[in-house]
Amino acid sequence: MRKFVIMGVQGSGKGTQSRMLCNTYGFKHISTGDMFREEIQSQSPIAEKIKNLINQGNLVPDEIVSEVVRKGLSQLDDSKGFILDGFPRNAAQAQFLIDNIDIDAVIVLEIPDQVVIERIMSRRLCSECKRDYNIDFRPPTVEGICDDCGGKLIQREDDYEEAVKKRIADYHASTSPAIELLSTKYRVERFDVTKGSKYAQPLIRECLGLSELEEVH
Ligand code: AMP
Repeated sequence: MRKFVIMGVQGSGKGTQSRMLCNTYGFKHISTGDMFREEIQSQSPIAEKIKNLINQGNLVPDEIVSEVVRKGLSQLDDSKGFILDGFPRNAAQAQFLIDNIDIDAVIVLEIPDQVVIERIMSRRLCSECKRDYNIDFRPPTVEGICDDCGGKLIQREDDYEEAVKKRIADYHASTSPAIELLSTKYRVERFDVTKGSKYAQPLIRECLGLSELEEVH
């Protein structure tokens, strides 16, 4: 089983890179952000609390996040591996990972802040299958409608400028040091994604030796 963590500031394309790898190689995509958005939709007892934190650009408390990660990892079924996306985001979460899980490599996506702010403001998400679009660079064929499932495209409630800037500042303050901590145990590989996701994907596959794996699709 191949085990990866993908990191990068929000809007760097972690979801897109993960989905391309998972669709091709049969890995499971474990995205803490997606799991929280599902939790919010399920209207569970903690849904309201999570929703308020996320919409204000704040992080969800570590105990709740670790629980969600454990749940994701316990449901791997017959996947050929997993990509953990959105976790860890701070040193405490990185330490949880180091203490509990073996990882083949940490994939770090790098992009300048200004580029990512512009990208996030034009980001849209399918309300059904969660596919990501960029209305400037990767628009759907029919405006507002998902190419894959016909679902309605929406803007994430936390994708407004103030929340975006806060998340970027949090990334530099908390997640960058977490990457340094991860590098004490795991292989860390950095990729420049300024030119877009499809340019970086083959470099990631090559670097991680994935081209030799059997493709499922
Ligand atoms: P994402 O889809 O990864 O951008 O995550 C959306 C939001 O979920 C983040 O802005 C956080 O509020 C929350 N979240 C996701 N992963 C984590 C995490 N590892 N630690 C704390 N909060 C998280």
